[in-house]
Amino acid sequence: MKVLVINCGSSSLKYQLIDSASEEVLAKGLCERIGIDGRLVYQKEGLDKEITEAPMPTHKEAIQMVLDALTNPVSGAISNLSEIEAVGHRIVHGGEKFSGSALVDDAMIEAVAECTELAPLHNPANLIGINVCKELMPGVPMVGCFDTAFHQTMPDYAYLYGIPYEYYEKYKIRKYGFHGTSHSFVSRETAKFLDLDINNSKIIVCHLGNGASISAVLNGKCVDTSMGLTPLAGLVMGTRSGDIDPAVIEYLGHKLGASVEEVLEILNKKSGVLGLSKYLSSDFRDLGEAALNGNMYASIALNVFDYNVVKKIGSYVAAMNGVDAIAFTAGIGENDRFVRAKILDSFGYLGITVDKERNKVRGRNVKISTDDSKVDVVVIPTNEELAICRETVAIVSNTAR
Ligand code: ADP
Repeated sequence: MKVLVINCGSSSLKYQLIDSASEEVLAKGLCERIGIDGRLVYQKEGLDKEITEAPMPTHKEAIQMVLDALTNPVSGAISNLSEIEAVGHRIVHGGEKFSGSALVDDAMIEAVAECTELAPLHNPANLIGINVCKELMPGVPMVGCFDTAFHQTMPDYAYLYGIPYEYYEKYKIRKYGFHGTSHSFVSRETAKFLDLDINNSKIIVCHLGNGASISAVLNGKCVDTSMGLTPLAGLVMGTRSGDIDPAVIEYLGHKLGASVEEVLEILNKKSGVLGLSKYLSSDFRDLGEAALNGNMYASIALNVFDYNVVKKIGSYVAAMNGVDAIAFTAGIGENDRFVRAKILDSFGYLGITVDKERNKVRGRNVKISTDDSKVDVVVIPTNEELAICRETVAIVSNTAR
C-alpha cells in the first residue's frame, strides 16, 4: 500500500510517500513559508532534491503542489493519484479522547478542534491538512496519529498535578506528554533489537532533540513521561526552559514588566540551552565546540542539560522499580556521543558500562553498552513517518475487513 504521510505545521508541511510493503520512502520533502511566499522541496528516492519557489497562499496550494510533484511525468514517484491508498496525518493533541490512532471521520475532526485550546499552534494546522486532503483526495481513507496517544496509559498518580482536582475535571489540566509516536516506535524497536519480550520489559526512551522528552515504558505501555500539559515541561531543551518553579513566572513578569504571555514566550523561545549559553546557540554542535574552546556558558548549558536528563532517567528507574534498557533517539540522542557518554557516566550504580567504540556508530540501531553491562543501552534512530505509515496501514486494513 502506498501511504502519504503528512505533518502539517502552521507555515510548513512535511510529507513522505512510503511503500508500506517494503517500507521504502518513494519520495519526501517539505513545503515552507506557506502564507508568506512559498517553497517546495521534493526529493524522489535516489534523485537529487528539487526546489521550487512558488506562491502558496494557503495549505491548499501547498498540498496541491505536493500532489503535482508526486505525479509529475518526469520526476514523480507515482503515475496517478489513485495509487495513494491512504493518508496518515500527524496530529499533536488528542486530549483524553484518543489513546491510539484512528480513522479520520467527522467525530474525530470535531474532537481535534475541541483540543485546540490545548495546542493552539498545532491542532488548527493539523486540521487544515486533513480538510485539504479530504478535498483534494476524496474517498481516500485517512488516519490521525496523535503525539499524545501513547501516553494515555499513564496512571492517574503520574498524570495528575498537585492542584485542586476540580481543575482536572473542569479544564482537563493534567500531564498529556508528547513525542508519543517516537516513544512508541523507539520502545518497540528497542525490544525487537535486543530480543526483549515487550510485554515483560522496562524501557526508558530518551527522545533528545530540539524538543526533548523522556518516557518510562513498562511492558510496552507508557507509565510516565516528562512533558506535561504542553511541550514546555520536563527537560531543559534547545530553547525551552523545561520544569521551573511556577512562581518564577510571576516574579520575572514583575521584574521585566512583562505579561504572562510574554514570560511564557521567553520560557518557550529564549530559554533552555540557548538562554543558559547567553544566546550562543540552541544547537548542541555549536555548544559542544564552544565548550571545548573554553566558553564557560556553553559548558554550563550542557551541564544543566545532562544533569536534568540524568535525574529524569533515575526517577523513571525508580518509577518502574528497575530498567532493562535505555534508548537514545532524535537529533542529540542519535548523534551526540559526548552527551550520551556524559549522561551514562552517572549510572555506575546501575552497573551500566559504555563501549567507547560502539558509542561512535551513527545512523543505525546500535547497542552502545558493553556486553557485561547490567542494563542495555541502545541508540535507535526514530522514524515518526514510518511509525505513522505502519499505524495507518493497520487501521485502514482493519476497517476494510
Ligand atoms: P526537532 O525535531 O525537535 O526539531 P531534532 O530531533 O531534529 O529536533 O534535533 C535537532 C537537534 O539535534 C539540533 O538542534 C542539534 O542540537 C542536535 N544535533 C543534530 N545533529 C547533531 C550532531 N551531529 N551532534 C550533536 N548534536 C546534533
